[in-house]
Amino acid sequence: MKIRLSQPTIGVEEREAVARVLDSDRLALGPVTKAFEEHFAKLVDTSYAVAVNSGTSGLHLAIRALGIGEGDEVITSPFSFIASSNCILFERAKPVFIDIEEDTLGLDPSNLAAALTPATKAILPVHIFGQAAQMDPISSFANQHHLHIIEDACEGILATYKGKTVGSFGDVSVFGFYPNKQMTTGEGGMLATDDEQLYDQFLSLRNQGRRTDLQWLSHYQLGYNYRISEITAAIGLEQTKKLKGFVAQRQELANKYFEILGDIEEIKLPHTPSYNTHSWFVYAIQVEEKFRNSLIEHLHQSGIESKAYFYPCIHLQEFYKKDFGYSAGAFPVAEKVSNQTLILPFHLNITEEDIHYIKNCIQNFFSRK
Ligand SMILES: *Cc1c(COP(=O)(O)O)cnc(C)c1O
Repeated sequence: MKIRLSQPTIGVEEREAVARVLDSDRLALGPVTKAFEEHFAKLVDTSYAVAVNSGTSGLHLAIRALGIGEGDEVITSPFSFIASSNCILFERAKPVFIDIEEDTLGLDPSNLAAALTPATKAILPVHIFGQAAQMDPISSFANQHHLHIIEDACEGILATYKGKTVGSFGDVSVFGFYPNKQMTTGEGGMLATDDEQLYDQFLSLRNQGRRTDLQWLSHYQLGYNYRISEITAAIGLEQTKKLKGFVAQRQELANKYFEILGDIEEIKLPHTPSYNTHSWFVYAIQVEEKFRNSLIEHLHQSGIESKAYFYPCIHLQEFYKKDFGYSAGAFPVAEKVSNQTLILPFHLNITEEDIHYIKNCIQNFFSRK
């Protein structure tokens, strides 16, 4: 018996769409990428979307297109996947971390004021684990101080905050399609924005700094090759069509977990404040720090994959400690959550029986303590 942590859901539609592209004579920069982008923009309620080859590439272009560079600061979360902070370093700007709050595990808005300096250019909230950060106070602080907002929505696709979908709050938002995400293209990502100028910049920057209306070998600015192929886009378009259904199934699965694990006293189940709907990137539980790693090991012995998530926090990653002088204790809430959290198997092939088995294994673990 082996219950995997995550697993993509790929159907006959994706296979057929890929085959159609392979049978065509257009493998890059074609109509399927365009259709994927248009479909995606509608889904996340923005005017424009630009597909790129990873979430990290998308984050980089967001920083780049907003003109954030050396000497600038961006306020962001230490409790995240490292790309949400690295993208700031790519342009030699400085990530300024603030602690998170326990409700959403996103940025704690009450910490924003203390982090503000004349060099602050943007806030980069991360919608972690599939749920929105507190966008109202974050947006009003940004408006008040003329800061850009870049949403890292790579884990939060189709989550809502006060009824509005994640990705539609910021100047720009970024989504990721790695195989463990709610939808996948293998590798891939998407930028979404309402701003036409940013949209034009994204098209140019992902495509070697070309102007969209100029000839192929005319480059007016430094750019990258962050394009996706039509093959990848074909998978993305089909996954996008199915995404609402995927998220609904993830919400059902989360409900099953709540129902079945609800009476184990030693674990803390995920929390969703009433203003949020969760899109369930992962199902993350917390246990006392001293039990976390041995519980993961116990589950592993029982054929159940689980993982410490996110551990360590970004500011405690080796090169952040070395380059910025951070040490443990800097962000107590983020560090506590990081020390206590593990994620459980979560994908659309998990059955109710699997969850009962996981529950029994967790109970066995604590009864032996
Ligand atoms: C997945 C993810 C990304 C992007 O990852 P890629 O592997 O580059 O697509 C960025 N930020 C967060 C928080 C993520 O979870």
